[in-house]
Amino acid sequence: MIDDAIRLDVRQGVYLDGRWEDTSGTGTLPVVNPANEAVVARVAAGVPDDLDRAVAAARAAFPAFAATPVAERKALLERIHALLLDRAEPLAQVLVEEMGATITHARTAHVPLAAAHVRVAAELLADYSFLTLHGTTAIVREPIGVCGLITPWNWPLYQITAKVAPALATGCTVVLKPSELSPLSALMFAQIVHDAGAPRGVFNLVNGGGSDVGAAMAAHPDIDMISITGSNRAGVLVAQAAAATVKRVTQELGGKSPNILLPDADVARVVPTGVMAAFRNVGQSCSAPTRMIVPRARLAEVEAHAHATAAAIVVGDPGDPATMLGPIANRMQYDRVQSMIAAGIADGATLLCGGPGRVDGHDRGFFARPTIFSDVTTTMRIAQEEIFGPVLAILPYDDVDHAVAIANDTVFGLGGHVQGADLDQARAVARRIRTGQVHINHPAWDPHAPFGGYRRSGNGREYGVYGLEEYLETKAILGFAPPTGS
Ligand code: NAD
Repeated sequence: MIDDAIRLDVRQGVYLDGRWEDTSGTGTLPVVNPANEAVVARVAAGVPDDLDRAVAAARAAFPAFAATPVAERKALLERIHALLLDRAEPLAQVLVEEMGATITHARTAHVPLAAAHVRVAAELLADYSFLTLHGTTAIVREPIGVCGLITPWNWPLYQITAKVAPALATGCTVVLKPSELSPLSALMFAQIVHDAGAPRGVFNLVNGGGSDVGAAMAAHPDIDMISITGSNRAGVLVAQAAAATVKRVTQELGGKSPNILLPDADVARVVPTGVMAAFRNVGQSCSAPTRMIVPRARLAEVEAHAHATAAAIVVGDPGDPATMLGPIANRMQYDRVQSMIAAGIADGATLLCGGPGRVDGHDRGFFARPTIFSDVTTTMRIAQEEIFGPVLAILPYDDVDHAVAIANDTVFGLGGHVQGADLDQARAVARRIRTGQVHINHPAWDPHAPFGGYRRSGNGREYGVYGLEEYLETKAILGFAPPTGS
């Protein structure tokens, strides 16, 4: 359960100019525990007036914060990192309540990976050059200004730190609008930034809906950059609203990521890993490898391993450490997953396991059944549309060129996977996949590897030095150095 200290922060609503304040509005956002559908908290809903106050605070704080010595910003990030680790357990528990992460996954992934973004941003500051000389010209990298950060519900804390950490590292000031469906971990994060001693106005938080507070952020004349992670729909609306003020827009949007099993792949090993990668976080990951592209000659073997893997998945109470998959994070997403399972059946894919409806034994809670379709073709909706749930599509191929063609037959371009024993062949195929990341043989997560999409998966990159540079402007000062010989 959420302890009283957290509930206290929840009532506060808006964090701006270094303190918790009441919102100017009267509405609240209900936070629903997806495992039992109970309302666990009500968060004050911000309104555009709160946003104006937050932006004014961020604008006022910008000149001084942009001019802070790098060592001060590094120390601030290190304090935030230490507090994230100190409060890891309450953060993990809040993630269970607000979006149904299993406690084990929250403890081993949601929280530590979120903290890693902060650690990496601090480490980068140790040797990042904000000024380089090219002959007599200096190239100066300067913070872009006030940043509006809009985040989704699927990896709530992780998406927040992926944006806030590099923004603060560069000397930008920020206004964060977390998902209205998962605002509790964001409130705890705001308290952490406060307790870490961030100067007033450097970090501000306004909760609220996308169509009011989010849209107002995108259009705000005093915000210099928007970074949004969310659906394609919201990403397009933000870009349209931002266009009139010519602000920079970074979008991390949807995906339909392929996982090519090359003919020499060890099927007994890579099919179980591939199924579990697709179902990680109940399939609610933008880069989840949801299209398993397999040699037609090995389809029966693949199906047997996939079926056995799905049958062994323990779905249930996310608070139980033994649970492997919890519920879908909210009703809207559960309904969407159900409609896509129905579409797979209607389009004639072979239902290997799972299917419509709740997991047996659950009358309440958004517990979707881990579902695998085989014999999927590229024209089916389940091969083209992002589902964002525990639904895997297996597509057979005839030769490697055909596999690559299937992999690239999508409007998205976020993640990609290749499995194979011959590393040279796997590398060659990885080069042909049109996505922002490709993983060969399920490597470890790399917080320095740039993350972002080709095509409709977005614009810009997050993580590591590429993520840092999204928040920087580039200034050339000609004549900065005296000509050589003078
Ligand atoms: P969503 O688009 O509904 O909401 C995301 C955020 O955008 C929320 O904070 C929401 O309030 C805000 N928003 C919605 N409409 C807006 C508008 N008109 N103007 C401004 N802000 C608006 O997405 P979601 O359902 O919360 O998240 C799931 C989606 O996010 C999936 O499509 C997934 O693929 C994508 N995602 C992408 C990445 C990535 O890095 N590429 C990572 C995680 C999630």
